[in-house]
Amino acid sequence: MKISIIGAGIIGLSTALTLADRGHQVTVHDPAPGSGASHHAGGMLAPTAEVVYKQDPLFPLMLAAAEWYPQLIELTQRYSDVATGYRTDGTLVVARDRADNTHLEELTAYQHLHGMEVERLTTRRARQLEPALSPALAGAVEITGDHQLQPRRFTQALLDACEKASVSIEPYAVHDVDEVDADQVVIAAGLGAAGITGWYEGERNPLDLRPVYGDILHVRVPEHQYPLLTRVVRGFVEDRPVYLIPREDKTLTIGATTREDGRDQPQIQGVYQLLRDAIELCPALEECDLIEATAGARPGSPDDLPYLGRVNERVVVSTGYFRHGILLAGMAARCGADLVEQIDPPISLEACDPMRHRR
Ligand SMILES: Cc1cc2nc3c(=O)[nH]c(=O)nc-3n(C[C@H](O)[C@H](O)[C@H](O)COP(=O)(O)OP(=O)(O)OC[C@H]3O[C@@H](n4cnc5c(N)ncnc54)[C@H](O)[C@@H]3O)c2cc1C
Repeated sequence: MKISIIGAGIIGLSTALTLADRGHQVTVHDPAPGSGASHHAGGMLAPTAEVVYKQDPLFPLMLAAAEWYPQLIELTQRYSDVATGYRTDGTLVVARDRADNTHLEELTAYQHLHGMEVERLTTRRARQLEPALSPALAGAVEITGDHQLQPRRFTQALLDACEKASVSIEPYAVHDVDEVDADQVVIAAGLGAAGITGWYEGERNPLDLRPVYGDILHVRVPEHQYPLLTRVVRGFVEDRPVYLIPREDKTLTIGATTREDGRDQPQIQGVYQLLRDAIELCPALEECDLIEATAGARPGSPDDLPYLGRVNERVVVSTGYFRHGILLAGMAARCGADLVEQIDPPISLEACDPMRHRR
């Protein structure tokens, strides 16, 4: 089958690779591959730590994505040698003060209620695992099932794998699905999907997407401190969430703020908040080199669930992955490819109907 994918972020590329591996002739269209949210993401694959109260329809999608992630990595590495930064060392979640610890305890109870594996640790044990953590922490848990990768590297690996799997990458934007010569089209253009026409009736695009900005920092750990941390550390500091992701290339990512102010540059307030809170959890960070402050826009939907489904006999929509798109790629690639091939995906996508916010 001849298939066009609009958008070369992590969602479009992983779907393209899956379909090419299934024997289809795939073209990906994007004027700037890998330049969207996927370029700015932290890369946590965290179905448990990222659980959000009362978002039950999201849990099965996140759990399926985490379960299938090793297959997506294996598929990528079957075609490409480019390292993805995929690591399975697990995650610590820590609380800075007593109020933060109450929050952490409530979150842990909620996770246990949903059958998730979270182990309470003494702060002493947490510091044995990660000696760079502050001695002043009030609580800690370990989540061994939450992993990470390096999104920019993974995008490069996916691009390389796609090329080796004979996917054609066309450096052009598509504004109307009728512009492309294909049997099937997948709209995977992140926020750009809201501007793509030709697949719905009426004036208004049914996708209700909005940019949710996040500031994020990259630092380099000096030789004498490396490895400052050996696993992902997430924390609450005066109820603000912050995370630290150590990488094998001796960098460390600190993220991420959440704001809907329409400003696409990193904001001083956000950078300050991230550094201050990260240093509260890991004081030695003060000695690192700041190498990049950046801001990206998460493709948000009104109910924080993706838009993933078939909308007519030629078009499948796959966008709106909001804060979890790197993780959800593990599910989106497989289910998106199934939708294109008109076979039932292994999990229910009822909650992700792309037409559910049509007005
Ligand atoms: C600061 C920050 C931190 C994050 N951290 C995490 C995290 O730790 N874990 C996690 O799971 N998720 C995280 N996310 C969310 C994640 O980055 C997104 O959900 C995910 O990258 C969405 O991928 P995508 O491929 O749908 O979109 P994008 O990466 O935005 O890609 C869309 C692509 O479509 C192209 N495009 C747009 N319009 C058109 C058009 N008309 N024609 C052709 N191409 C077009 C763009 O050029 C772009 O390359 C984070 C996001 C941010 C901003």
